Amino acid sequence: ENRFRGAIIYPPNCETKLYVWRKEWQAYLINRPTFDKIIYQNIADEVNIRFKESVIEIFREKGLWKIKTNRDIYYSKILVDDEGARYNIVRKLGLKPPGYRNILPAIQFEMSNVRDIDEDFVEIFFGEKWAPGFFGWIAPKDENKARVGLAVYRNFSPRKFLEKMVKHHPIASKKLSHAKIDKILGGIVVVNGPLKKTYGNHFLLIGDAGGFTKPTTGGGVVIGGKISEIAGEVVLKGVKENDFSEKMFREFEYRWRKRYGKNFIMMKLLRKIIYRLSDKSIDKLFLKLKESEGEELITKYGDIDEQKKLIYRSILYPKISIYALYLEMKSIFERPSKMF
Ligand SMILES: Cc1cc2nc3c(=O)[nH]c(=O)nc-3n(C[C@H](O)[C@H](O)[C@H](O)COP(=O)(O)OP(=O)(O)OC[C@H]3O[C@@H](n4cnc5c(N)ncnc54)[C@H](O)[C@@H]3O)c2cc1C
Repeated sequence: ENRFRGAIIYPPNCETKLYVWRKEWQAYLINRPTFDKIIYQNIADEVNIRFKESVIEIFREKGLWKIKTNRDIYYSKILVDDEGARYNIVRKLGLKPPGYRNILPAIQFEMSNVRDIDEDFVEIFFGEKWAPGFFGWIAPKDENKARVGLAVYRNFSPRKFLEKMVKHHPIASKKLSHAKIDKILGGIVVVNGPLKKTYGNHFLLIGDAGGFTKPTTGGGVVIGGKISEIAGEVVLKGVKENDFSEKMFREFEYRWRKRYGKNFIMMKLLRKIIYRLSDKSIDKLFLKLKESEGEELITKYGDIDEQKKLIYRSILYPKISIYALYLEMKSIFERPSKMF
């Protein structure tokens, strides 16, 4: 529906802003139902997809999975769980889902009559007072339509926070307070990173179910899709060798960890650092980034899908990393309760 060259990122007090962008397109705004439909059309001849059918219970029976749905019972040698952020099947498989601070309720308004937005840029709004535990966003669809959303920790109401952002945020409200809400969508953003174990005897986890989203942004379409490709290859190997044992599926975890493991670790670390800081500290960090070429650093090394490189580079950049460390130490003493 649209594409972006970069982002404009605001700290809680909005006294400065970071522009990070490249000439080339960096991200695409997609219509998720259409995207899913296109994928479905591409595989419809080869895959038997059942709509409006929910898995209710799973059992192991005579070396097979017995899968009970609201309509029927199926038997299968393999179970690939892609249930999203519900974690019902994950629990039934005996695995531990993410903790409640890493599963964030989210809301998004589709808005029209939005003012003063640049179609080529997503706008991001940080601040505990605006979106505790995450951030708010305006993702333009065109010059006067946008998707506007945020996620929050589970003890808060995302709707109340989004209404507050629309009406009272010093920057966002100027663009949104006259806009009309055309559609509302709710969901869950997963910021946990992959679960401790994502495979087992005769099963694999993919997508949000496996925690395959970026802990910094909750984005799981690209990285989740790439990891699902690995899952597909391992399952195919299992089918060829008629081996669906835990030992065979260990290869799935080995391969995704080898390719993306460090990225997940670094993104999780960055998330922990940022969301422990108070709004005042984030304001100071933004000023520091602005005055010490932080925008150039992010522009040069930032990659929306693989953020490891940027995080390594920032650590090697003492003007920023030592200051961030100082703010972090300060916050540990000032806000010990935030040490989750
Ligand atoms: C508001 C919001 C904005 C987001 N923005 C972005 C973004 O900009 N970029 C990005 O990359 N990611 C974004 N994400 C995250 C992204 O949506 C997910 O990472 C992605 O959809 C995960 O895909 P999935 O297939 O694992 O899960 P889902 O897309 O949740 O699909 C899981 C499916 O399983 C079905 N299901 C669940 N339980 C059962 C059952 N028992 N039986 C049968 N079916 C079942 C569900 O109905 C659903 O259709 C956003 C999320 C939210 C909430």
